[in-house]
Amino acid sequence: MTLTEKILARAAGKAQVTAGDNIWVNADVLMTHDVCGPGTIGVFKREFGQTAKVWDRQRVVIIPDHYIFTADSKSNRNVDILREFAREQGLPYFYDVIDDPNGSWKFDAAKGLLKKQYGSNYAGVCHAALPQKGHTRPGEILFGTDSHTCMAGAFNEFATGIGNTDAGFVMGTGKLLIKVPETMRFRFEGKLQPGVMAKDIILHVIGEIGFDGATYRAMQFDGPGVASLSMDDRMTIANMAIEAGGKNGIFPFDARTAEYIESRTRLNGTKQRYEPVEADADQKFVYETVINLDQLEPTVACHPDPGQRKKAKEMDVKLDRAYIGSCTGGKTSDFVEFARVVQGRRVVIDTFGVPATPEIVHDLQTTRWGDRTIWDILVGAGVQMTENAGCAACLGGPVDTFGRMNTPLKCISATNRNFPGRMGHKESQVFLASPATVAASAVAGRITDPREYVN
Ligand code: SF4
Repeated sequence: MTLTEKILARAAGKAQVTAGDNIWVNADVLMTHDVCGPGTIGVFKREFGQTAKVWDRQRVVIIPDHYIFTADSKSNRNVDILREFAREQGLPYFYDVIDDPNGSWKFDAAKGLLKKQYGSNYAGVCHAALPQKGHTRPGEILFGTDSHTCMAGAFNEFATGIGNTDAGFVMGTGKLLIKVPETMRFRFEGKLQPGVMAKDIILHVIGEIGFDGATYRAMQFDGPGVASLSMDDRMTIANMAIEAGGKNGIFPFDARTAEYIESRTRLNGTKQRYEPVEADADQKFVYETVINLDQLEPTVACHPDPGQRKKAKEMDVKLDRAYIGSCTGGKTSDFVEFARVVQGRRVVIDTFGVPATPEIVHDLQTTRWGDRTIWDILVGAGVQMTENAGCAACLGGPVDTFGRMNTPLKCISATNRNFPGRMGHKESQVFLASPATVAASAVAGRITDPREYVN
């Protein structure tokens, strides 16, 4: 069996499963957020009753992160609905925007968009927060009401996005009926060259198979090249499995995975026991390819979908805007690579920086290069950095969202999705690239290969 099949078999209590089997699996964690949480709660209450209790309080994780820093009252209200539910159910893992469990959330636009407006429990973008807060474990099943839930496949778990109806059912029963996906194998060999990042790997892969090339399939990333990839790198890659239509993305377990999981579960007091899976020698794949990491170059996915692959060095596109942020591209390591490029330079187009989590804000504000923090270097280069970690303009959001494109602009972005209207205006164009490529392009004002800057 493949990694995905082994996890699903175990979760179904079976010795063996085969692609195409329909099986009931037990969920280890259910995650929801402010956009889908109220709908999921509605389904749960309608189907299980107004006084029903969730199947396991320890396994429901609620992370508001999407439409948070906006004066839109309905969006603010969504956070209040989550708080009322968490209080009613006694949920220990609700990462509220405010600290008062009886309060209500209201964004104060008068304070501006840059200075932080959240309390000590707030965790930021759900997919980055889940591992940081110790909710991802090898060998487990994670369901989330968000398509990029697949990011947790970096940790050798089966993680996939589900709709509100399925999530309401999982909330009540802890189970879900799913079809075992076929597995596509991407075997990594070699090592990335300077200026080339994990984002380039996944943009290359999606360009190879198309934005629907892995529809309802597991994407297994393995091979000797994985050892050189950090956990952040693996998260970037697994995150974008859905951009090829994948059911999930998954990596093997190794010492790096163990180190990350053990430190995060210990730090947060979450469950520390886990059982990783190893692939069998006789795995069956529906597709197999080898990606030589040495040969990859800075890559861009052009408007209007993540499969429109081009090499950065071959492009000549004048830009209006640059954006670094999101679960995919707003991690500490992403900002570090971005800062390496812009250090000592200035961006020449509007450039927005949105760290994925408050912990990342803290990292950037406390890590010094010489006498300046990384945060100061970014601000000094002209990047508009907000402390309000969250999804921000990655998916557009209400009109007052930080970095949202309210006019038809061309933007290069470290985010993960670029279908029309994704970051705001329907006629805007989004070019997906690595943080290094976004940084070089922000400095040049046009799409630029970052190797000119990092060498
Ligand atoms: S940062 Fe973007 S891709 Fe990630 S969860 Fe938020 S909206 Fe979705």
